[in-house]
Amino acid sequence: MKIKKQWNIKQVDTLFKTSFIELMFHAQIVHRKNFNPNIIQISTLLSIKTGSCPEDCKYCPQSARYKTDIKKEHLLNITKILKAAYDAKKSGSTRFCIGAAWKNPADKDIPYLENIIKKVKKIGMETCMTLGSLTKYQAKKLSQAGLDFYNHNLDTSPKYYHKVITTRSYQERLDTLKNVRDSGMKICSGGIIGLGEKTEDRKELLLQLANLPQPPESVPINMLVQIKGTPLEKIEKIDSFEFIRIVAIARIMMPQSYIRLSAGRNQMNEEMQAMCFMAGANSIFYGCKLLTTSNPKKIEDFKLFKKLGLTFENNLLLNNKHTFQRQLFSKTINEVNNKYYNADI
Ligand code: SF4
Repeated sequence: MKIKKQWNIKQVDTLFKTSFIELMFHAQIVHRKNFNPNIIQISTLLSIKTGSCPEDCKYCPQSARYKTDIKKEHLLNITKILKAAYDAKKSGSTRFCIGAAWKNPADKDIPYLENIIKKVKKIGMETCMTLGSLTKYQAKKLSQAGLDFYNHNLDTSPKYYHKVITTRSYQERLDTLKNVRDSGMKICSGGIIGLGEKTEDRKELLLQLANLPQPPESVPINMLVQIKGTPLEKIEKIDSFEFIRIVAIARIMMPQSYIRLSAGRNQMNEEMQAMCFMAGANSIFYGCKLLTTSNPKKIEDFKLFKKLGLTFENNLLLNNKHTFQRQLFSKTINEVNNKYYNADI
């Protein structure tokens, strides 16, 4: 991935002030220069340790500080994890993401995590983990075991951050992202919209992400899910068009990143999701549960994709096994590639 220009706040302001229709057009052009807009990357997320987290993220039902309805679970055994990975692959996912509600993994957990990574890789999936802060040593060990991506969200702007989390600093998050990048892994990092932040905070979040030394390869844009028992349970919902606008601006500012529609999809109707894909989102989490919150059922996603003419990235990759299938793969990809206006030509 090429290193892109640095963005400044004036440029981001201009994007936020652009009319919605113009912004969507701009985002579509950028998207079509870098991706086929008919292809969506699919990831599946599994929680391997749920609840009792010592952090105080005010949106999260897994924090030990809030009384929520989540079912706490100790570390899952490897057999259950591998079964979930096989199922995810069969359903069309290309990436298997594993989350644990920790402040950070302990060094003694690293061999267990290395074992998971190696075994999931053998199934033929990309791997991603989200385990909290990572030291340089831990990032190196996970990278050496074959971990492709590490997820660590910035959540919001540096200024608003202390209103949402007090147990881990913004700088600690940036340090973890640096450790991940230095280890050779790819970065998955994004934010949550609807935490009570102002437009200025949304601009600053996008600036932080886009101006990292290298933008994240994957950028999850989450819409807050208000969960009973958390301090943000009653916070005002974000306007749909404002959310779509943020997806479009993320696409423009990080043209080569996968922009992922993450938490909150279950609260969006089909039309809103379609607008997000048109704004440049090209990745989703797939499966009826997203760590502890609900996500659309697979059958609903299939129906929506069919209506929109979208193809899973894995439909192409799955065919790439044998000579005949490779031919089929190139035919299929050509067919799909010929079906859209490529703004790069
Ligand atoms: S978001 Fe992650 S770190 Fe924060 S409380 Fe939830 S599980 Fe813990």
